[in-house]
Amino acid sequence: PLRSAARIAAIGVSEILDIGARAAAMRKDGHHVIVLAAGEPDFDTPDTVKEAAWKAMQRGETKYTALDGSPAMKEAIREKFRRDNGLDFAGSEISVASGAKQVIYNAFMATLDPGDEVIVPTPYWTSYADIIRIAGGVPVLVACDATNGFRLTAQQLHQAITPATRWLMLNSPSNPTGATYSEADYRPLLDVLLKHPHVWLLADDIYEHIVYDDFRFVTPAALEPALRDRILTVNGVSKAYAMTGWRIGYGAGPMALIKAMAVVQSQSTSNPSSVSQAAAIEALTGPQDYLAERRDSFRIRRDLVVDGLNAIDGIDCSRPEGAFYTFASCAGILGRMTPQGRKIETDRDFCAYLLEETKVAVVPGSAFGASPFFRISYATTQDELREAMARIAAACDALV
Ligand code: PLP
Repeated sequence: PLRSAARIAAIGVSEILDIGARAAAMRKDGHHVIVLAAGEPDFDTPDTVKEAAWKAMQRGETKYTALDGSPAMKEAIREKFRRDNGLDFAGSEISVASGAKQVIYNAFMATLDPGDEVIVPTPYWTSYADIIRIAGGVPVLVACDATNGFRLTAQQLHQAITPATRWLMLNSPSNPTGATYSEADYRPLLDVLLKHPHVWLLADDIYEHIVYDDFRFVTPAALEPALRDRILTVNGVSKAYAMTGWRIGYGAGPMALIKAMAVVQSQSTSNPSSVSQAAAIEALTGPQDYLAERRDSFRIRRDLVVDGLNAIDGIDCSRPEGAFYTFASCAGILGRMTPQGRKIETDRDFCAYLLEETKVAVVPGSAFGASPFFRISYATTQDELREAMARIAAACDALV
């Protein structure tokens, strides 16, 4: 039998993948399953981006590139940071990897020793905690309240910091809640960090371009120049440009960190795909007008889902200002009985009921460290969303 390494043994397979597998099995049995669990846009990669990849292949750009990104890729990222964030980075302060996930993995592998702590506000993208554990660190989970928009407060941050803290992890807009940090939300947290020079900040900005209403996206490195030398700003093309399969993410921060991250990458994957880099250059420097169109489309769908959920007795959903997720409370549902005579005691029970009885797949909040909630990804067609809302409403009506 396989004797797996201790660093892996504690890490379970993602609950989201598990739900996806169950939904796929139901589909195979002929059911019309609506899966609202995916973390990717339903749009296609823009044609101009695909063409750039094809042209790169024709030019013979099919070989190894520089380890952590080609010079042209880094130049495109520099342009992006100047244009969108007013930040000026040198090429040596930029690292390109196979997805934002790998950037985060490289950063924690490069900096965490056994026992080092990373503060992770919850609800959270669970990969953060698992990557920290694989790297030997200790995730310090801090529960953020729904009444504060699922945001970390300065007092919570202050209390969580110990001599062993190495990083604070922030993600705005957030997966799974869609919560955002404005300049005013960031300011008190940055003030706490200014007082604790041993704590670095990893800002995961992957949902930067998916924001709504009057929300103005900001990134911490642009807000506080005094923290520039201990912030890693992480971003990528997966969500904004519908390029999840191309696997390009990037980070920008102090040169010493970027160099250490390159060491990790040099002994794992080496350079990210040369063809994908060419595509990402086009995504970052080509026309950006479709971002606004896609944002509008996501906003309409957000409102459809939020309004649909709030019309259901027992469900309470705030209107997130970013990403393509809603994170609704199902506290009012708990304690009710299904027509089959089973009691719904947890958000996991509720999500299992929705999947079994209505063939709608959503993810329980417990998968993101917060109960009783459930996450809906609304990156699917309006017709599917309308049908899903009707099915969820009927299923909740059937409870006694
Ligand atoms: N960060 C967050 C919060 C995410 O939700 C995801 C993807 O689900 C990522 C990072 C990883 O994105 P990438 O495809 O660039 O690895």
